[in-house]
Amino acid sequence: MTKTSYDLTWDLDVIFEGGSESEAFKQYLHTLNDNLQGLSKKVNQFTTPESVKEVEALATIIQHLETVTTQIRESGAFISCLSAQNVDDKKASLLRAQVSQMGALFSTTMTQLDQKLVQVEESVWNDLLDSPELSNLQFVLNEKRRRANENLPLEQEAIINDLSIDGYHAWGQMYNTIVGKMSVEVEEDGESHHLSVGQASNKLSSADRDVREAVFHKLQNAWTEQQDLFGETINHLSGFRLQTYKHRNWDNVLKEPLEINRMSEKTLDTMWSSITKYKGTFVNYLERKAHLLGLEKLNWYDVGAPITNEEQTVSYDEGAKFIVDQFNQFGPKMASFAEMAFEKRWIEAEDRSGKRPGGFCTSFPDSKQTRIFMTYSGTASNVATLAHELGHAFHQHVMDDVHPLNQRYAMNVAETASTFAEMIVADAAVKNAETEQERLSLLEDKVNRSVAFFMNIHARFLFETRFYEERKQGQVSVERLNELMEEAQKEAYCDALGEYDPHMWASKLHFHITGVPFYNFPYTFGYLFSLGIYAKALEEGSDFEEKYIALLKDTGSMRVEDLAMKHLNVDIEKPEFWEDAIKLCVKDVEEFLHLSQ
Ligand SMILES: [Zn+2]
Repeated sequence: MTKTSYDLTWDLDVIFEGGSESEAFKQYLHTLNDNLQGLSKKVNQFTTPESVKEVEALATIIQHLETVTTQIRESGAFISCLSAQNVDDKKASLLRAQVSQMGALFSTTMTQLDQKLVQVEESVWNDLLDSPELSNLQFVLNEKRRRANENLPLEQEAIINDLSIDGYHAWGQMYNTIVGKMSVEVEEDGESHHLSVGQASNKLSSADRDVREAVFHKLQNAWTEQQDLFGETINHLSGFRLQTYKHRNWDNVLKEPLEINRMSEKTLDTMWSSITKYKGTFVNYLERKAHLLGLEKLNWYDVGAPITNEEQTVSYDEGAKFIVDQFNQFGPKMASFAEMAFEKRWIEAEDRSGKRPGGFCTSFPDSKQTRIFMTYSGTASNVATLAHELGHAFHQHVMDDVHPLNQRYAMNVAETASTFAEMIVADAAVKNAETEQERLSLLEDKVNRSVAFFMNIHARFLFETRFYEERKQGQVSVERLNELMEEAQKEAYCDALGEYDPHMWASKLHFHITGVPFYNFPYTFGYLFSLGIYAKALEEGSDFEEKYIALLKDTGSMRVEDLAMKHLNVDIEKPEFWEDAIKLCVKDVEEFLHLSQ
């Protein structure tokens, strides 16, 4: 290698010098605040246009909106980076509070604007959107207006908003408070330790079955002890949500999540039914895994267990080189972008204490840069995470020259570029494995991911849909919640497991998130959508990169059905696309079954 080794810490000073004490950032927030006040005033004074001649006023507001959106995102990104690199940075928390306050004014201003847009007469509206000033924003502006139109009048939405702080979001916070206080006593090397439920859950991937089994039952006991409280939190927050829907005249609980993800119910149904069609293969995998672990049947806590004990380690430089090389096989732009991110220190990967756990990628739209955060300790999964986050960064990178209002993509497509990048690297790792044992374990990792998206997430989706239907009739008892969950798991795993996890409705934070409803199916969509793209890329070779980039650029301004039709020439309301994607996973299972014979 000609390159000297890459730095494992990121450079934030090129964006704002001086960390949370930065003068430049203070100045930036000052300017942002001025701009926000200016926008709020403009929206206040804005009168509903009565003819296309008034397009100027709206165009000016949009311009202001563009600036403010960009600056809020830039500020939020900087603060996230500060508090992630040092969880004890108190100054960063103060800055966060300052920006949150601005965020609140911003969303009030937006609701106000939306309500004024609803009142524009249809023909005037169409003329406005056809004018050169606004024509590139047709999709997002129409969407804004349509969504506002489906809400209640401004005053009523304002009341809902105000009441939701203590009557809705509070239940989600209550959930976090209770979980935060829970602890599980676990025996380790003859000593007993008190672990948080998060720490205890990590033990479920232990190679030692006795450990997994003991921790699983300790956790079950812990959730049972608190189940009455979680029964309250889930019933009340869902009750609030359903009441809001009722007043808005929305009878389908999937309406909101589908709208947020810009997809049709038909697409969702087709996705799940295609998955269900191929589940047999994954059942074969679960049976083989049981056999490899010397078991009759896997229990819930065995699904994620490792099949071997060995773990290869890869240095950061080797990992970086591997990623760049593999990206290069697919497309030169993605490869040179990754190389640039390593060289310019866009990545914080150092393994040290005081950092936030987990990984993320955040973008600075004003500086047109991104930053990746993770802790690199040299495992194969670290390399995969690094590739994953670089995929997110590349997505943002290609969107840098897209209008800021056309940059916001939903959760289901947010994971497209990341999963795609991860897939390239995971596939290459399997191919490059040095021993049979290593190949088997890397392959098993891949298949297990599919099982998570096709079975675990499916169980969550089945549970949540059924729970909401029953909740419409009144409160659902904890016994019934346990029953609904176990039924959903049995169905999603085709009865392939011995013991299930009836308390998953309590243990999964996702059912208690109030910010977004149905925090499950977008994961599976994102996974399969990117696999479908990957299938195309394998077919077309490196010529595909330009098409791929064009698709990513449109992710913030199209419905997913249109996006897939325009760039992949497929109808995702039909099964073919999904089945092609699933077949890639089926191939992994087949290879796994073959190798482990
Ligand atoms: Zn991601």
